[in-house]
Amino acid sequence: LLGVMHNKGEVCVAGSRVLVQEAIYDEFVKTLVEKAKEWVVGDPFHPNSRVGPQVDKKQYEKVMSYIEHGKREGATLLTGGKPAAKARGRVLSKFADLIDQNADELAGLESIDAGKLFTFNKMADIPFAANLLRYYAGAADKIHGDVLKMSRELHGYTLLEPIGVVGHIIPWNFPCTLFFSKVAPSLAAGCTMVVKPAEQTPLSALEAGIPDGVMNVVVGYGATAGAAISAHMDVDKVSFTGSTEVGRKVMQAAALSNLKPVSLELGGKSPVLIFDDADVDKAVDLALLAIFYNKGEVCAAGSRVFVQEGIYDEFVKKLAVKAKEWTVGDPLDPTTRVGPQVNKTQFERVLSYIEHGKREGATLLTGGKPAAETGFYIQPTVFTDVKEDMMISRDEIFGPVMALMKFKTIEEGIKYANNTKYGLASGIVTKSLDIANTVSRSIKAGVVWINCYHGFDIDCPFGGYKMSGFGKDFGMEALHKYLQTKAVVTPIYNSPW
Ligand code: NAD
Repeated sequence: LLGVMHNKGEVCVAGSRVLVQEAIYDEFVKTLVEKAKEWVVGDPFHPNSRVGPQVDKKQYEKVMSYIEHGKREGATLLTGGKPAAKARGRVLSKFADLIDQNADELAGLESIDAGKLFTFNKMADIPFAANLLRYYAGAADKIHGDVLKMSRELHGYTLLEPIGVVGHIIPWNFPCTLFFSKVAPSLAAGCTMVVKPAEQTPLSALEAGIPDGVMNVVVGYGATAGAAISAHMDVDKVSFTGSTEVGRKVMQAAALSNLKPVSLELGGKSPVLIFDDADVDKAVDLALLAIFYNKGEVCAAGSRVFVQEGIYDEFVKKLAVKAKEWTVGDPLDPTTRVGPQVNKTQFERVLSYIEHGKREGATLLTGGKPAAETGFYIQPTVFTDVKEDMMISRDEIFGPVMALMKFKTIEEGIKYANNTKYGLASGIVTKSLDIANTVSRSIKAGVVWINCYHGFDIDCPFGGYKMSGFGKDFGMEALHKYLQTKAVVTPIYNSPW
């Protein structure tokens, strides 16, 4: 150990190749592991330090890169080799650059897998994934606890430690974005992980390629691979995005196994409230974007639209015209605005809800049918005369189907908006600050978009109220999902307690 560790290995005569005769090899290795711990790394001014920092950044990076080479070439890491938080950040940034360099391929995979629009993937989803990695890369070396005030003669502080092995279970509607919204903060936190992409859309996740053992992608079905993750005794946390129904199963499995904490990003039936003072043309565009973006396969889709009575008739007239601008077609064609549903099951599910809507007495304003003879294309669909107790107003359809309703007063609008078991997102369209302030404080949802919709941002925590789940993705809140707090306490005077 002295031969190689002295002066942190920066010695021309360092004994860097150690040859041990076989009879004592095993015992030597065992003892070496124990004794290597005595070589404490730290401040060179501190008398207890035995290994100081490398001389400069260049040398540090050179040594780290040799360690990586060693791993890749198949040597076994016996001790050390662990990149510090800063190095973790660098890995994340490099990963982000690789995504940018392969944006075309990743955008194409998303279209093939999920029927998502290539132009949008390229312009929005893929850069967003890379930026998620960059955001958390910057956070990786800024994770720290607090010094506590303490009420007694004690010195106390907290350490934020990685929670351990994380199981990520994700759905199929934004495969790449959702993958990185989970993986990036948990990597930055220092966790290792098992990620299960949705069985419908595994391709972008398989393209990833981070250091061996840190991020493990397991493809498979929910009832087997997904259930194994949530019930596993060695998984320390599950971060799940998917339906409310499956979220409940994940929580149950966590409770029945090792009581691992879970965070659940679940479904929604989000309201958009449009008030009398709105610019009707803009409000129509916003409402259409809220529901038809990504062919309605968005957890936060604005699927219930409430329009105040003063502008209702004009709104409906304009909506019927503008809905036609949402052309359905091949997701690889740049002029397409609505691609096919992800698969046959989803296609049939959406059509069956449309049939329910008709049977329950809602009026079909536009759409309502498959948009092509083959493929899973559905016409963008708007129902008016919807009643609160109809299935199309209660259930998450997860397709391009809008339920349009009329309201009179602000109070009535708020009541309608909150009349749902979900609470994921919401939208308000008004010019009045008073209305915007009142309504945004009264709506029970994790996000309120005022005069915009789908206003996602890396800095902005996203996650549900009520049966839309708990725990946030994005922002610094997501990083803290993957950390746990340890308190360290020591007496200031020499007292035993
Ligand atoms: P889903 O719940 O059927 O599946 C989600 C994931 O869970 C998949 O990977 C699936 O294989 C897995 N799974 C299924 N059964 C499981 C089990 N018993 N144990 C463990 N894992 C299991 O959802 P979906 O159909 O893939 O996606 C659509 C749903 O996801 C919608 O409800 C949508 O609102 C929701 N969603 C929510 C958000 C959010 O951020 N809140 C984002 C996207 C999608």
